[in-house]
Amino acid sequence: MTRAPAGLARVAVRVPAKINLFLAVRGRRDDGMHDIVSIMHTVGVHDVVTVAFGGPRAAMHHPAGRRVMEVELQLGTGGGAPPDDANLAVRAARALASSAGNGWSLRRGGGGRGAAERGRQWPVTRVRLDKRIPVGAGMAGGSADAAGTLIALNRLWDCDLSLDQLRDIGAALGADVPFCVGGGTALATGTGVTTAQVLCRGRFQLVLGISDRPLATADVYRCWDEIGVASRAEPDAVLQALRTADPVALGEALHNDLQPAAFHLRPELRARRDALLAAGALGVVVSGSGPTLVGLTDGAQAARRVARAVRHLFDRVEVARSPAGGPEVVEER
Ligand code: ATP
Repeated sequence: MTRAPAGLARVAVRVPAKINLFLAVRGRRDDGMHDIVSIMHTVGVHDVVTVAFGGPRAAMHHPAGRRVMEVELQLGTGGGAPPDDANLAVRAARALASSAGNGWSLRRGGGGRGAAERGRQWPVTRVRLDKRIPVGAGMAGGSADAAGTLIALNRLWDCDLSLDQLRDIGAALGADVPFCVGGGTALATGTGVTTAQVLCRGRFQLVLGISDRPLATADVYRCWDEIGVASRAEPDAVLQALRTADPVALGEALHNDLQPAAFHLRPELRARRDALLAAGALGVVVSGSGPTLVGLTDGAQAARRVARAVRHLFDRVEVARSPAGGPEVVEER
């Protein structure tokens, strides 16, 4: 990661969504988490996280004035994310502040716009989210925002942490955050926080069938606990298809052990999966805990054709390219 120029006032980071091309659940651990093996892959649907200093100008630029900092969340375009301290972006800011050792103490609560109107004595860091990644859709939108916030604040606050250090901080926030910090294509093991980049020579065209009704990850795993059995599925065929850039082989190899649980909770997904296949998708899989369906197609034209054919079945259909790289600084001043 390049070092941020000193004295920044505003940083914007564009973060891609994640899909799972492969997900095997090895079993439930004593702490209630699940051990998985997964291949995570970024797709071209992005959120933008913009962080900026606000509050009294003098306090903002004087090091002593930075001892107390408030984080204020602004939800821009795209709704559905929590508007308060439960938001993963705010949690990421707090986690970074306490790990970075820069001596700041973050004020709790009071983050709403009202605080600005009452006039505060301390500086504020504003975190604005412009969301395109659907919420509760198995596409790691919250984790992407957490990763984007860590990367943006690392620069704004001049923390100078490495990507590995940001991944470690992210692991405590959510299983998908370490992957989202780097993006690309990675093999994830353990609870999903241990990731290693894998070779992906292919560029793929996907159709994403998105539902407005979120599916809670915890509910899907609970359902897996009841109906699923520990899986021995291995990701080799997916890894091979990524290495050889072969969309047909990749379509056949897509796999998700959570899919039966997602279909059980949302029976309508089964017919939608069938419709994507009938429209010409090379393979279809539920992403993560769902309910998003990922249809892999044979090129951009095919993707547009498949998308047109299934548009009426979903709340939203996106044609997206993959992999979509990782978080990218798009503005810095
Ligand atoms: P997971 O990463 O657990 O599979 P998901 O990808 O299915 O989750 P997310 O969009 O990350 O879905 O939302 C999961 C939960 O996280 C939701 O209950 C949502 O309220 C909460 N959440 C917290 N912060 C955010 C955020 N910035 N954007 C979206 N959801 C958020």
